[in-house]
Amino acid sequence: MVRENEVREGEVAIDPPPATDAGLVFIGRIATPWTSRLTTPRQGWADGPICRIEIFEPWRQAIGGIEKYERLEVLYWLHLSRRDLVRQSPAKNGTTYGTFALRSPVRPNPIGTSIATLVGVEGATILVRGLDCLDGTPLIDLKPDRTLFKPIAPPQSGDFETEISNQA
Ligand code: SAM
Repeated sequence: MVRENEVREGEVAIDPPPATDAGLVFIGRIATPWTSRLTTPRQGWADGPICRIEIFEPWRQAIGGIEKYERLEVLYWLHLSRRDLVRQSPAKNGTTYGTFALRSPVRPNPIGTSIATLVGVEGATILVRGLDCLDGTPLIDLKPDRTLFKPIAPPQSGDFETEISNQA
């Protein structure tokens, strides 16, 4: 359901700091075992090492309910990436591909995404497996894995998953 300025019953709104650049604001930081891009995995895997996603204030209240999900979509800013290549040769063999045909960290806006397995929540820190980013990588957003939403059956009033899957 599309909304504009509505704050619904029970919801909490905060005053976010001013956005910069394209309007992104980093909402947390990801602690991982990797300190070099050369040894960071190209993609995470479901039983990879536990990584700790620390959520900053004033977004900590936004964690509530996340523990209901087995998997999270994690969006992060690959902050050390160069951003100027439009064709790339991943195998370093002269065969090139357009940047948009690759999951390379090198892209105009270096956003990384992973589906991570939720391990637990410790206060303002969310523990997951399945990431592939450097220690200290800034966090952009977290969402429940969309494949876990049930198909929309006839809506049941008060049904948590149905209510939130109907929201835009
Ligand atoms: N899973 C994400 C995706 O598909 O959007 C990222 C994939 S990207 C191929 C992962 C690689 O990005 C790592 O192997 C590492 O070389 C690089 N990388 C990880 N964290 C980074 C960071 N904070 N800044 C720049 N490069 C990073």
